Amino acid sequence: MGEVRRITHHINGAYWKEGSARSGDVYNPATGKVTAQVDFASPELIDHGVKVAKKAQEQWAQASLAKRVQVLFAFREILNARKEEVAKLITAEHGKVLSDALGEVTRGLEVVEFACGIPHLLKGAYSEGASTNIDVYSIRQPLGVCAIISPFNFPAMVPMWFFPIAIAAGNAVIIKPSEKDPSTINLIAEFWKEAGLPDGVFNVIHGDKVAVDSLLSHPDVASISFVGSTPIARYIYENGTKNGKRVQALGGAKNHMLVLPDADLDLAADAAVNAGFGSAGERCMAISALVVVEPVADELIKKISERMTNLKTGDGSAGSDMGPLVTAVHRDKVASYIDAGVSAGAKLVVDGRNPKVNGAAEGFWLGPTLFDQVTPEMSIYKDEIFGPVLSVIRVSTYDQGLELINKHQYGNGTAIFTNDGGAARRFQNEVQVGMIGINVPIPVPTAYYSFGGWKNSLFGDTHAHGSEGVHFFTRGKVVTSRWLDPSHGGINLGFPQNG
Ligand code: NAD
Repeated sequence: MGEVRRITHHINGAYWKEGSARSGDVYNPATGKVTAQVDFASPELIDHGVKVAKKAQEQWAQASLAKRVQVLFAFREILNARKEEVAKLITAEHGKVLSDALGEVTRGLEVVEFACGIPHLLKGAYSEGASTNIDVYSIRQPLGVCAIISPFNFPAMVPMWFFPIAIAAGNAVIIKPSEKDPSTINLIAEFWKEAGLPDGVFNVIHGDKVAVDSLLSHPDVASISFVGSTPIARYIYENGTKNGKRVQALGGAKNHMLVLPDADLDLAADAAVNAGFGSAGERCMAISALVVVEPVADELIKKISERMTNLKTGDGSAGSDMGPLVTAVHRDKVASYIDAGVSAGAKLVVDGRNPKVNGAAEGFWLGPTLFDQVTPEMSIYKDEIFGPVLSVIRVSTYDQGLELINKHQYGNGTAIFTNDGGAARRFQNEVQVGMIGINVPIPVPTAYYSFGGWKNSLFGDTHAHGSEGVHFFTRGKVVTSRWLDPSHGGINLGFPQNG
């Protein structure tokens, strides 16, 4: 048997030297082969990591804003220079095609660039003379040790929604990445070290539920930023808040694209294919429900099917449009939804089971799949499938389409395709969803706005990055100050009033 690479924790600026009692297999989804084994942390190791982070944070919080920004700029330069390397690691463990992997690193870089502006973002308010001889001002301070628990589908971008801002604000972080594609974040830990971040401020601890539960209950973990499926997000929110932590828990999604009859149907068809099948549908902002207002459904489906025949499924490092799914188990689960759709009576227009691929036979393949005549009670409509399956639901009016979207349990992203500005404006006002695209299928907000959904797509009240991210990773103080002057007020037991 050949040696399998070992992926271990990165704590206090160095890889963990001791062994691990438990570990998990890491696959290359395009070959179906195990390429590495990742260590799983014990509660004792989490405790050690938190202690290291706590000590480092006390020093880091005292570093001047100028010093912190220098480190962030250096990190930005290293990440930008070596982003192809990061993308290759993502493709090797996640399976998404290289250009897509590079795209996620670039979106993460935007948050780093946003966090470089932390001196401006942390500026407080100052009211001179709020009362006689009294000034009032506000400051924001770091929380302490912040935990970030991330999903498999964006091993670089999702952690980067959080840690650049957390670190810039003077916190230390512990990242528990997905055990399915754990290498990317270790390379990023090396970049931080090279950028001059003090040891212990950025720590990676790998693991499963044991590690997550230990973070949730550790008294010195101040906050949890979680991204993953809705049942786990709910669990994280309930348990984290019960233990007194600040929690933002982003969950699953079912994103609808509403196409009005006046839309540019070629634009809509391109968008549906790109947003439905990019990254094999393993995006929290993927379009999986295409709601078409009649009479244009037949024409739109024809345009989409034509485009689908040209899509190349295969190894993400070899010029394909769409890579494999992340694991065999996940591929089989998505395929079982296709079976369920057929059994429920939906019309299978393009069948992605048994696809022709450019890659090893053992890869976790599933081709792009299109259903028509889908109805709201079918599981392919109700559930998040998280694979390359696009369902068309035909409606007669805008109101019927809107009602469908608003009744769904998820509210992450949505898009409307129309040439009618009035209809688009009405949609942005009426739809119960956190992120909206107008003739834009994947409306991921830019870094200086905040990312987050409504309903079962987010637990907690704070979205990721932008001003909400700065707010999440800091806490406020208000100072009421009087510098001695000759006029003392004397004794007064009444409640202070401004005057
Ligand atoms: P997941 O919920 O299985 O795992 C997410 C994280 O939780 C991982 O780090 C995992 O190790 C950990 N985890 C898994 N089971 C756990 C348990 N029982 N107890 C404690 N921790 C546990 O999600 P995934 O499959 O890695 O990612 C896909 C999901 O993430 C999809 O539902 C997708 O919509 C969602 N997602 C949402 C967003 C968003 O912004 N809303 C972004 C990306 C992904």
